Amino acid sequence: MSSIFTKIIQGQIPSYKVAENDDYFAFLDINPNSKGHTLVVPKKEDDKLFDLDEDSYLKLMKFSYKVAKAIKRAVPCERVGMSVIGLEVPHVHVHLIPLHTMADANFSKKEELTKGQFEEIANEISRKFQL
Ligand code: 5GP
Repeated sequence: MSSIFTKIIQGQIPSYKVAENDDYFAFLDINPNSKGHTLVVPKKEDDKLFDLDEDSYLKLMKFSYKVAKAIKRAVPCERVGMSVIGLEVPHVHVHLIPLHTMADANFSKKEELTKGQFEEIANEISRKFQL
């Protein structure tokens, strides 16, 4: 069965997309630690980051680097943090999180956003993204 992220990538489930190329898809986390919290996902469905071959790992990091640059340009924050967890969704993904304080790196701290806020921030990051 396809993962929830594959369904998002295929458009079966809606998302707030921020960037995409042939191999990767980046969209806002629906339950963000902070405004602009983004997930970067390979379109090929694998479970664990460190089970990827080295080339796939490095390509994912390269795409995440570009998305992180766009987040930094779009979202006022101290810095962009990166985490890989995967305990909830078994489809490799990188969390890119605008950090203001250490609390934003804590996954039990969540920020509620309206649909309009999600759309606005996704558009802002998308505009700043350069392939
Ligand atoms: P992890 O697997 O790294 O522990 O967490 C998975 C992340 O995916 C969580 O931060 C969660 O909010 C996010 N997530 C789970 N389901 C969806 C979804 O349907 N849409 C979006 N945009 N994010 C999701």
